[in-house]
Amino acid sequence: MTTPEGTEFDVVVIGGGPGGYATALYGASAGLSVAVVEKDKVGGTCLHRGCIPAKELLETAAVFRTVSGAQEFGIQSEQPTVDFAVSQARKQKVVDQLHRGLIGLMKGRKITTFAGTGMLLPGSAVRVDAPDGTSTELQATDIVLASGSVPRTIPGFDVDGQTILTSDEVLDLDRLPPSLAVIGGGAIGCEFASMFADLGSQVTVLEALPTILPGCDGDVVAVVGRAFRKRGIVVHTGVQVSGHRPRADNGTTVLFGDGQSVAVDAVVVAVGRRPLTDGLLAGGTGVQVSERGFVVVDQYQRTTVPGVWAVGDVVATPQLAHVGFAEGIVVVRSILGEPVAPVNYATVPWAIYCQPEVAFAGLTEEAANAAGIDIVVQKDPFGGNSRARILGDTDGLVKIVAERMPDGRCGRILGVHMAGPWVTEQLGQGYLAVNWEATPDEVAQFIQPHPTLSEAFGETVLALTGRGLHVG
Ligand code: NAD
Repeated sequence: MTTPEGTEFDVVVIGGGPGGYATALYGASAGLSVAVVEKDKVGGTCLHRGCIPAKELLETAAVFRTVSGAQEFGIQSEQPTVDFAVSQARKQKVVDQLHRGLIGLMKGRKITTFAGTGMLLPGSAVRVDAPDGTSTELQATDIVLASGSVPRTIPGFDVDGQTILTSDEVLDLDRLPPSLAVIGGGAIGCEFASMFADLGSQVTVLEALPTILPGCDGDVVAVVGRAFRKRGIVVHTGVQVSGHRPRADNGTTVLFGDGQSVAVDAVVVAVGRRPLTDGLLAGGTGVQVSERGFVVVDQYQRTTVPGVWAVGDVVATPQLAHVGFAEGIVVVRSILGEPVAPVNYATVPWAIYCQPEVAFAGLTEEAANAAGIDIVVQKDPFGGNSRARILGDTDGLVKIVAERMPDGRCGRILGVHMAGPWVTEQLGQGYLAVNWEATPDEVAQFIQPHPTLSEAFGETVLALTGRGLHVG
């Protein structure tokens, strides 16, 4: 069989989100010929319906907070109001700029993008069904599945884009709901709760588990919980949501717990995301999909079919853009036969952009105790940090979990947990310490500039050596 020109590649990637485009960019920069099949826009959920627009709107909330608190600095200004249409337009501008940049980057690397829905066929082929009804068959030595995920919903809450919303719809609202219920107190739920509360909405969070931000360190969760309460966010944990009763005026009353209810203008359902494999695999490909719908891969991202790989939210690993990036690199290096270490999911960096921000890598105190590891814990609250005082943003702490050696001294740093101002930008050295398996003695030799927020990390490490300056 002859192959039409321009349809044969070293690598075909199905899905142009972070997992897919990272695989394509890294592969192309290593000299592979790469095609990406994308049914919507390259950039995927992260760029168009997730991380980037959400963080842009969270920045809008931060600007609002800053202006609201300006008088404390002697800056006289009127109480600010939000023109949400302008906020949305700015968000869209940022997204569009990054989208154009990504398209340019991909073109520059000679990556061919096919607009359409990709389906893996048996053998090393992908069928692309274009929006105009035509189909093209692509051949490749290696195929990477990177079709991502979509928001989960819950029974009884049919998403209508008006009253019942998922993150997809929230990010496109043209007005601020005066009140809203957020179902799910995970990363997405807490980010939206924080953003809407800062912009003036009355927010209620309904979380099924005993705590918001499950999986985060308890001290970090306590900081966020306190800050939420202070800003008037009502949090109910350990509650089941049983349904809702729509009101004639477009709002609804959400029923939860033991006969409790809350009347709101909108409901944000943020109960996780499910892998998107609908129509991804033709019959007989041999690619195994788990009961929960994830494509099954080994630690090198190999599916059950040789030459077919999977990365990003479609596999059962942390649903984070940067994890998708890392998995894409593992795939390309494996294809090239280069040495590569699988992604260590236990120590990936996490960054949650609610106010106060949360960032961490490695073991929490609770997880270390549950695993029976003998640990030393040291904390430094931002209240004692000069830069945080200058900013007027002192809620939060840096907490380090290190192993305790038999002689009582600290061994490796196992986990770094932060909540507070700009901690998503401060995690870097904590992440490095955890992944380098560094000890406090080693890290404490490095100087932190003064006055900075990052001193809190340095102070905590210093205290773990047994001799702190301001801490310990
Ligand atoms: P999540 O799994 O992090 O949180 C969902 C929360 O909803 C959990 O706390 C869960 O207990 C709760 N829940 C589930 N069903 C419920 C119900 N019926 N009633 C009440 N609560 C219920 O998922 P998410 O926040 O939707 O985020 C989706 C994915 O995207 C996650 O993997 C998340 O880590 C990732 N993400 C990360 C970030 C970030 O790190 N900044 C931001 C956005 C999304």
